[in-house]
This record gives sequence, structure tokens and C-alpha cells, in this order.
Amino acid sequence: MNRRPEPEGWVGLVAAIVAGTPSLPGAACAGQSELFDPRSDNEPWDATQRRQEAARRICEWTCPVQPECRRWVDSLKSAERPRGVIAGLVPGEAPPGRPKKAITA
Ligand code: SF4
Repeated sequence: MNRRPEPEGWVGLVAAIVAGTPSLPGAACAGQSELFDPRSDNEPWDATQRRQEAARRICEWTCPVQPECRRWVDSLKSAERPRGVIAGLVPGEAPPGRPKKAITA
């Protein structure tokens, strides 16, 4: 019997994330991914901030499943968290030229 190999690299990571993504019916971000996406290399930083602030307001003020979404994000390791705006948070993004916060034990 042939066994299908497990996907590796980013394909495997994406598959693992999607497999663990909860169903959030009524999510206010549905159909608005352009607001929630992470910053692209050619997007001006202030444009990213305005766009992501609008996304964060959607999460915090209008999304009926924000508590469930936040619990899911909090259950992930930092390396597993999606980039961009999720549950009103922007994990792991810092303005260009600003050093990332040091992690201490
Ligand atoms: S909290 Fe934000 S990211 Fe999470 S489902 Fe709602 S709108 Fe989408």
C-alpha cells in the first residue's frame, strides 16, 4: 500500500495551520482579507497602519466571534500564529528600522 508523503516546508506549515483553524461562523473579516493581510514589501508603513487599524476596529467592535478567535490565537505558539491582523492583534510586526523586542528568559 502506497502512503502519501507528508508535505514539508511552508506547504506543511500551511496545511497544519489550516487543519487547526476553527470554524468561526459570522466572522466579520469574511471577504475583507485585504484589510487583515500582513504588510507587503512595497506598502508604505503608514498605509499599513491605517489599514490594520481599520481591521482591528472590525475585530474589536463588530465581530461576534472575537472571543473564540482570540482563544484560538492564544492557544497557538508564536511561530504558528498567522501574520497580519487576527483577533484584533497584529502579531510580530514592528515598524521598519525599529529593533524587535528582545526576548528574555
Ligand atoms: S476577531 Fe477579527 S480576525 Fe477573528 S474572526 Fe473576528 S474579524 Fe476575523
